[in-house]
Amino acid sequence: MDLPVDEWKSYILQKWSLLPKSIQVTISTAETLHDLFLHSSPLLQPEDEMFLKRLSGGYLVGKDPDASLFYREKGNQKFQAKDYMGAAVLYSKGVSHSGPSSTDISLCYANRSAALFHLGQYETCLKDIVRAQTHGYPERLQPKLLLRKAECLVTLGRPQEASQTVIDLESSFAAKPTLSASQFQILQRILCRVKVKVQEKENLPEIFPEALTKTFEGVDLREENEQIPGASSSVSLHVDPLKGRYLVATKDILPGELLVKEDAFVSVLNPGEVPLWPRGLESKWDIQVTNGDLHCHRCLRHTLAPVPCDGCSYAKYCSQECMQQAWDRYHSVECSLGALLLTLGLFCHVALRSTLLARFEDVGKVTKKLCGEMSNQGICLPESKNPAQTLKYDLGGEGDKKDKAVETPIPGCDINGKYERNYNAIFHLLPHTENHSPEHKFLCALSVSALCRQLEAAGLQAFTTDLKPTKLKAAEPPVLCAELSVWGVAMLRHMLQLQCNAQAITTIQQTGSKESLITDTRRVRLATALFPVVSLLNHSCSPNTSVSFIGTIATIRASQLIRSGQEILHCYGPHESRMGVAERRQKLRSQYFFDCDCPPCEREKQRPSAGPGRGAFRCHRCRALLQGDDVLSCSGPACMESVSRDLLVSRLQDLQRQVGAAQKHLRNGRLEVAIQLLLGCQSDAESFLSAEHSVVGEIEDALAQAYAALGDWEKSATHLQKSLQVVEVHHGPSSVEMGHELFKLAQVFFNGCAVPEALKTIQKAEKVLLVHYGPWNDEIRELQKMKSCLLDLLPIPVGPKE
Ligand SMILES: [Zn+2]
Ligand SMILES: [Zn+2]
Ligand SMILES: [Zn+2]
Ligand SMILES: [Zn+2]
Repeated sequence: MDLPVDEWKSYILQKWSLLPKSIQVTISTAETLHDLFLHSSPLLQPEDEMFLKRLSGGYLVGKDPDASLFYREKGNQKFQAKDYMGAAVLYSKGVSHSGPSSTDISLCYANRSAALFHLGQYETCLKDIVRAQTHGYPERLQPKLLLRKAECLVTLGRPQEASQTVIDLESSFAAKPTLSASQFQILQRILCRVKVKVQEKENLPEIFPEALTKTFEGVDLREENEQIPGASSSVSLHVDPLKGRYLVATKDILPGELLVKEDAFVSVLNPGEVPLWPRGLESKWDIQVTNGDLHCHRCLRHTLAPVPCDGCSYAKYCSQECMQQAWDRYHSVECSLGALLLTLGLFCHVALRSTLLARFEDVGKVTKKLCGEMSNQGICLPESKNPAQTLKYDLGGEGDKKDKAVETPIPGCDINGKYERNYNAIFHLLPHTENHSPEHKFLCALSVSALCRQLEAAGLQAFTTDLKPTKLKAAEPPVLCAELSVWGVAMLRHMLQLQCNAQAITTIQQTGSKESLITDTRRVRLATALFPVVSLLNHSCSPNTSVSFIGTIATIRASQLIRSGQEILHCYGPHESRMGVAERRQKLRSQYFFDCDCPPCEREKQRPSAGPGRGAFRCHRCRALLQGDDVLSCSGPACMESVSRDLLVSRLQDLQRQVGAAQKHLRNGRLEVAIQLLLGCQSDAESFLSAEHSVVGEIEDALAQAYAALGDWEKSATHLQKSLQVVEVHHGPSSVEMGHELFKLAQVFFNGCAVPEALKTIQKAEKVLLVHYGPWNDEIRELQKMKSCLLDLLPIPVGPKE
């Protein structure tokens, strides 16, 4: 996903292994990224480009009118089955495959408007009706569309517009009696109904629909940091030769305080599993729904009614405005490169988009910076060559301190010591060139070269530093070529930076069957992005902050009390609750090139048995914990039992397979089968796993879901409480995982009408989730709704008894 597809990776690795030793050495020892790029790029041969072209040929990214028809028919089937959500998504796929101003696209929009109408999304439905009309919806079908429009307007409380639509409709009936008699009668009947509704509403004052809820407006930093836009004034920026840049609390910070709120400098939507064609299915078009179908390609907002790019079928946006902005800033260049970018991976895509976005800043400055830093100084200036940066640079401090500090500006800061949230900051993220393997650098360099050649072949139209059309024409090809290598080196730098600096934008997706009454959620990766301010935070396996996202905006909140002077830390992925110290350290070393010495790592290094996974097995005779490495023996007094680790591990794997199968039955609504299997798993687990084992938690959680689906709230709550205990042991009582589990328990109590338990659990869940997400989170609002509903149910308290 992030890196190029495996076929291209192994192709390039083989190419590398066949290179003469001398060339390998030249590339491996290249001192700068500029040299690396210059030595690697000419090695990309036409046959390599042909191979890459064949690979990317498997992605369907262009428009295909046949696909449009296919998706519309599939959508109609879902519509008939009353699966309006499914229908809307398939119509959207139809929309994105139809050319602009075609009958195909207008029919897809019109059908989608019908699905949206049934989903109660009236505003969006109206927009689709207008889209259908502007793309040339057939005249003979207009009455149907106008009726839907009138019904929407009535429902939205806009009677004046509704009656105007009715007038239009009547005159269109009179002018063109193109409908058959029976159709005409049906329409007449609906029209009568709408007219009645219009008259009813006309007597009421007109209510304008509420402005779109801008969830994020309410979330703001209490006081913005003067030196680091996007960060709170409770933190300050420091630099140190060993740790690099990092943030420190300038005062005591309470759990839940917002510390960073930052929009991504660049983000690229992760399209999900995009299948390659041919895939051996009956049709070359897939009806699978991915992230790319449900989220805006620019702002990542969730939408059921995307508008597609006019030139391709893969870029879809939440609105015309987003589409235009994306086109102006980057998509005009990217549009024709969709298949190539899918083949080369997200890092390559982010690298390209970063350089494209850089054009919108001070172009002269950026180009000069790129040319200067790369060609002259050498782009991968080793960090040690920088003047000693031992100076503690208190950006939050008073004015008089500032003067001293400016002597050694922190990388990414401007002359006044202000951290810029712009391309300059992105540029200064470390590429760690010396740490990457030569093969990896070669792969990145050739992938970027291939991209540059494509850009060159595409005529470089928008890829020049200035977008003015007159300048485009005046640009001379040789000049552009020189410029392209500058862009190439910049993209290579970004590709290497991304391994350590890429931030995954995640979203909470609801899982489980449509019928299940308690929501189960799963964190999914939505996009790969770069955040200059978030990048300032160092890692800890037990962080003191929590990160969440709304669209492309990241927020970081304190997840615990942070004392003044303590470092602000977040977790890069390997969290102490998820893996043992050895695995964490190995992951951090291979991806981020450092050895973690956070408190849990230090602690677990001393006492390896403290980590998760250890001490997880117990004796089947006396239930005491089993201890040891390859052969475990019982720790119980007077018990001689011993067993090999291999045996226990294979038992555990068997159990996990069984649990997986049961979860699948659960998703497919085969509840009884699932419960039987899960009860079997439960007794199996009891015989050799500790009660806190994560698999035990998974079994309890699945049982709770199954009983909830059967309406047995009591049993569901009992199992959920057991699962909650496991989550608490692994993630801690105030973790976000705990918050989600409490949310589920609150739903179960709520549905079971256990009022006092529900209120208590709602309060706990709210408290935990508030710390991680702030007040505008969907789950928190759901909890508040449940609470007010329950409070209405409670009998009015009678005065205290004497
Ligand atoms: Zn958007
Ligand atoms: Zn496009
Ligand atoms: Zn650690
Ligand atoms: Zn024993």
